[in-house]
Amino acid sequence: MSTSPCTSCGACCAFFRVSFFWGECQSSGGTVPDDTVELVTPSLVAMRGTSQPNPRCTKLAGEIGEDVRCTMYEQRSSSCRDFDASWENGEHNPRCDDARAKHGLPPLSPQPVINHIPVLQLRS
Ligand code: SF4
Ligand code: SF4
Repeated sequence: MSTSPCTSCGACCAFFRVSFFWGECQSSGGTVPDDTVELVTPSLVAMRGTSQPNPRCTKLAGEIGEDVRCTMYEQRSSSCRDFDASWENGEHNPRCDDARAKHGLPPLSPQPVINHIPVLQLRS
């Protein structure tokens, strides 16, 4: 079983303003606790800590580039759930590269393709 590269990264949680529709907050029937966000516009909220010059979501625990975790993983917004690590689903995500670069981390590489190795040797 492979481990997600995100557990030793966390760069995107400390790079972008993580904003989303306020309807995702618990007071509106969503999952995101209201006290973890701040208002950006009348219809948009952002995770606390991500609207500042050196952003870092207040719900990110650990050391970026070492060992991190989201302390509200099951309740996180669609902005967080929909952000894929580069090549995770076979697609490049340049925004993942940008976030990692900001924190001195190299871009992720595509997973190597493992060639099919025949296991049956036919004998004449
Ligand atoms: S809620 Fe979790 S996944 Fe989303 S930005 Fe914050 S720490 Fe990252
Ligand atoms: S920047 Fe990319 S690898 Fe790092 S936590 Fe975010 S999605 Fe995962």
